[in-house]
Amino acid sequence: MNRLVLASLLALPLAGCATYPNDTALDDVATAASPVWAVSAADPRAQEAGESILRKGGSATDAAIATMLALTVVEPQSSGIGGGGFMVRGTADGSVTSYDGRETAPSGATPEWFLGEDGELPPFIESVRSGLSVGVPGNIALAAKAHAEHGRLPWAELFEPAIALARDGFEINPRMYNSLTSAKNRAAFSESGRALFYDAAGEPLAVGTRVVNEPLAQTFEAIAAGGRSAFYSGDLAAEIAATVAADTPRAGAMTAADVAAYEAKERDALCGDYRGYRVCSMGPPTSGGIAVLQILGQLERFDLTALGVDNPVTWHLFLESQRLAYADRELYAADSDFVSVPVRGLVDPDYLAARSALISADSTMGEVTAGTPPGAPQALADGDEPEEQGTTHFAVVDDAGTMVSYTSTVEGPFGSGLMVGGFFLNNELTDFSRAPEVDGRLVANRVEPGKRPRSSMSPSLVYDPSGQPFMVVGAAGGGTIPVQTARSIIGAIDFGLDAEEALGLPFLMAFGDRVLLEEGTWLEEQADAFRALGHGDIMLREAPVKAGAILRGASGWNAARDPRLEGQLETP
Ligand code: GLU
Repeated sequence: MNRLVLASLLALPLAGCATYPNDTALDDVATAASPVWAVSAADPRAQEAGESILRKGGSATDAAIATMLALTVVEPQSSGIGGGGFMVRGTADGSVTSYDGRETAPSGATPEWFLGEDGELPPFIESVRSGLSVGVPGNIALAAKAHAEHGRLPWAELFEPAIALARDGFEINPRMYNSLTSAKNRAAFSESGRALFYDAAGEPLAVGTRVVNEPLAQTFEAIAAGGRSAFYSGDLAAEIAATVAADTPRAGAMTAADVAAYEAKERDALCGDYRGYRVCSMGPPTSGGIAVLQILGQLERFDLTALGVDNPVTWHLFLESQRLAYADRELYAADSDFVSVPVRGLVDPDYLAARSALISADSTMGEVTAGTPPGAPQALADGDEPEEQGTTHFAVVDDAGTMVSYTSTVEGPFGSGLMVGGFFLNNELTDFSRAPEVDGRLVANRVEPGKRPRSSMSPSLVYDPSGQPFMVVGAAGGGTIPVQTARSIIGAIDFGLDAEEALGLPFLMAFGDRVLLEEGTWLEEQADAFRALGHGDIMLREAPVKAGAILRGASGWNAARDPRLEGQLETP
């Protein structure tokens, strides 16, 4: 993992995730009488949007869509209809499917897309703040497809909470203020962004300021009335294409035909076993689900419960498993519609057992390289992987026990900074490897026309050994996402933690040979124990985490946000 990943990782704006039922405070969740449904979202206002849909009898899919739309209003730094996402849906009887609403490169894009005229890569932010970085947005197409198959309420009703938030206004909370300050170069890039979120002197509007986003309310009304085609054809599609093209410094810029050609794809979910539980997640074009299943599968032969939750050896094993998974990820993960990704081979139990044999409880392994899973293609090279933050995870369980896990993103904070119709356009195409070749070999995740960039997002679901719905979990945070997700699952399964405790486990992650231990936790005190296990290069840092989960407990569903995020959402 490169410096850019680390730099962006350490700059992650914090976010929250919260509660149920019927506005029950987080503290009351454990005592609530058998909650039969739950919503977890990074912003309480978006969570309330999802809850209101469930109260009206909507399905988990309906509530997830309403939450996604509301987040477009109140958390524009992280996600929105100008971006994309992945949704995994699992029913109470164990039927699981997934929806791919990942952004696509325009038909004129080439592997050299991000290279300057001199053939060199420009600074990352130059690629971001340009039409080059914008993929055709996928969230509305995903929502329309999922709703057509699994909606209970009329499509237009799902837009009502988001329209109310945009039209009546919403207050800037401290977290959004921080993003407006730290990512001003994106949020204030376009005139519309400046007009919405900054004062006449160019300063971010203060915490507590009420923002009305009337253009977004009108955009929502158009899509509510006209369906998906109101987004992918007609005036809005033309405006998206024109806005992107005006800032694209080369031929091949996005056209209205590119927007019209977008399709959300229903894909098989990727499922595997972990200690008798069934874990289902998202397959390519995200690397997230593969990485989560690999990290867990490679740990299965170790008795983590016996080792203990506060034993450095437990978490040393976790780091080692990450290192193996991320080496594979760098080499193989990309859009499987374009390159051959050995998905089944990468999560094959025999392959994982062979990889796991490289892990020792006594010391770190030496250099970690990708393995050769069954079906591995030849002639791929490692790529660079610039990643930023700008993502949100939400989860829903409805009264039928259907679980929906949805991660939505505009890639970096406020995406490309370009705005249309009151929403930001993503910079998802910088999730491609900007360099098409390394050492003369093609990178799997290179730009190609119509291709979807590799992701790390890992919306996941877990069924318990008796097949009952057990957990809905995922995270934001670029390359840290699979680690956050796997850690939360281990917390629930190996250590019997509740949702909040599982999300609150100290964070640690291996970046190649470097290891981040979360400062201020017991991990910091045990840094020498990690050194003794061979982890020589240790960074003590704040953990850039933003996970969300719903977990079944003794008294019903229990929704949680990361306990570190308390206070990030309240407007004084
Ligand atoms: N765009 C990234 C991805 O798809 C996520 C970025 C983030 O979490 O902040 O993996």
